[in-house]
Amino acid sequence: MGLQVVLLKSFINEKKIVAKDDQIEKLRLFENMVIETNEKFNLTNITSEPDFTIKHIIDSLVGVPYIPKNAKLLDIGTGAGFPSMPIAIIRPDVTVEAIDSTEKKINFVNRCAKELNVPNIKAMSIRAEEMPKDNKYDCIVARAVAALPILMELAVPILNIGGIFIAYKATQDELSDCKKAFKELNCELDNVVTLTLPNEDNRCLIIIKKIGETPDKYPRNYSQIKKKPL
Ligand code: SAH
Repeated sequence: MGLQVVLLKSFINEKKIVAKDDQIEKLRLFENMVIETNEKFNLTNITSEPDFTIKHIIDSLVGVPYIPKNAKLLDIGTGAGFPSMPIAIIRPDVTVEAIDSTEKKINFVNRCAKELNVPNIKAMSIRAEEMPKDNKYDCIVARAVAALPILMELAVPILNIGGIFIAYKATQDELSDCKKAFKELNCELDNVVTLTLPNEDNRCLIIIKKIGETPDKYPRNYSQIKKKPL
């Protein structure tokens, strides 16, 4: 199998993303490591399906054009490193931190960073709602982690004012459940980007900007967030 290089390169060109051959090679090696490790350790429910490159590598990169230059970025619930590892490989200007509540996954991401020599990513095992609030990010991303109002409560308190949260979703349907979250968390909708992946899957990036301070009470503890989402 292996990386679908032709598809990947044409996607990268179309989106005007700059990538050298050694970066493409790192994406290929990362894909191999995920598939191999997963067969042994059941790391994620991601499997070695034929369109792995599209569903996970290309998909992770759809956010790249919207990430500000030199951003300090956080990936919430990174799992095996999606979307943060492809982002870190393609955007050496961005300082990437990736968190997940499961230590096994974090160890895998850090091992990939070391073996593939991707110095601008660091993974940590911590829950998003337990992140210190004195350390803030310019950009936060999350893919396949939770419903949008929940994600907003996890992400916005640790964004800089003017910073953006990019939620990787299939559609923009969840936006209609977020009116209270936008108001309570001092946010506005910055952009909604809909696109079709090369396998015809729909993808939607919901980009939310923080425009003012977050009240101190957020994020609440996770059971509250889940039981009574904003
Ligand atoms: N983003 C990856 C993984 C999605 S699975 C991908 O797209 O493939 C969701 C992951 O989020 C799981 O690994 C889970 O451990 C993690 N997670 C869920 N809630 C979390 C929280 N509150 N803080 C940190 N990680 C969380």
